[in-house]
Amino acid sequence: MTDSAPAPATSTAPVDVFAKVRGHEREAQLNAARDAGLLPYFHVQESAAQPVVVMEGAERVQLGSNNYLGLTSDPRVLQAAHDAIDAYGSGLTGSRLLNGTIPLHLELEREIAAWMGTEDAIVFSTGHQANVGTLGTILAPGDTVVADSADHASILDGCLLSRAKLRAFRHNKLDKLEKQLQRAAGDGGGVLVVVDGVFSMEGDIAPLAEIAELCGRYGARLMVDEAHGAGVLGTRGAGASELLGVEDRVDLRMGTFSKSLASCGGFIAGATEVVDYLRISSRAFLFTASAVPAAVGAALAALRIVRSDEGPALLAGVLDNARYLRDGLEQLGYAVVRPQALGAAAPGPDGRDDVVTPIVPVLVGDDWKAALLWRALFDAGVFVNTALHPAVPPGGALLRTSVMATHRREDLDRALGAFERVKRAFEAEHGELPGPDS
Ligand code: PMP
Repeated sequence: MTDSAPAPATSTAPVDVFAKVRGHEREAQLNAARDAGLLPYFHVQESAAQPVVVMEGAERVQLGSNNYLGLTSDPRVLQAAHDAIDAYGSGLTGSRLLNGTIPLHLELEREIAAWMGTEDAIVFSTGHQANVGTLGTILAPGDTVVADSADHASILDGCLLSRAKLRAFRHNKLDKLEKQLQRAAGDGGGVLVVVDGVFSMEGDIAPLAEIAELCGRYGARLMVDEAHGAGVLGTRGAGASELLGVEDRVDLRMGTFSKSLASCGGFIAGATEVVDYLRISSRAFLFTASAVPAAVGAALAALRIVRSDEGPALLAGVLDNARYLRDGLEQLGYAVVRPQALGAAAPGPDGRDDVVTPIVPVLVGDDWKAALLWRALFDAGVFVNTALHPAVPPGGALLRTSVMATHRREDLDRALGAFERVKRAFEAEHGELPGPDS
């Protein structure tokens, strides 16, 4: 034994695989932002997920969560999580295939299928795994997947994993989608179009009726990620597909429990033959521990509330709050990014033409300005999410605000008061922010 490092087996030693973690560009940017107190990420919430939370020792109005219905603190949801722990323990320590299936998983799958109006559904441990584990399994080399350029990262990950040919089209541009479908027809394999129903940063809605029509015309299958639409849009809260009347033309619908359903986990709803195939073939389903009892119990209780007589008022509540925040921000002169009109045939999410989703993004443009504004709002008692490049196109930095059904008007007024004060001080020092016509 000697103290010196072993001699490399060959004279050309490889570079250290860890070299990339040192001194990279992102590290320098992160450190500079952190040193200036401008890093909008990794802040610690010291209280339960509520409309107003404690973060870093002070109260902040929570405009940065996906807890759209506010069900994370509903006593029935909490009780269901406790009951699941009492009955089945803290974890299942195994895959769904082996020792990790409890009756709650099966009940939840049955209720999701009934909610979505599909033959069957399968529950994954996270929404990310639902996308990766479905796209990576259903698609194979030789197939083509046509995806919106603003689709969620987990969709892209699943597409890349599958090694199918990926053809992206410009966000929500139907002519670009059609071009890619024409090209895909010449690729020779099966074709799947995959889009977010509601886009997570922009908060806008995919034109699903037109997309479904194009899929029909070009013989492609359609998958819609309903992470942000489920529990919010449509009269049953079944998502953008329900809102736009295309449920029977969407082949696969993905959703998560980490937003309206107040828990953690994900699902795919669709035809029995496809769901059964995922059950025996999806590696992200088979080779991971199943969703823990508390998470499944909570999601099931939240789903039952959405599907009960209480559902419509909750759905209307979150959209009303989104409208109130959006209108207030616009009156203050902020550039709110509004979802596109849905076309004459489609009503707004709650039957009104005035299209809104719980996501109300404010365009700032410049990354540093967005970080400065985030900090000023944080200090003024409001937490918002910040979307910087590469999460959004260069020069398209957003403050992503989002509301819950349980925000009271006084919470939103408190937040709007902070937005007003912060804008005045910010513009005096840093120049004008983009306005409503930007
Ligand atoms: N799809 C979309 C559109 C999302 O926004 C997210 C999460 N933000 C996911 C999938 C992944 O879901 P989960 O957080 O449950 O893993």
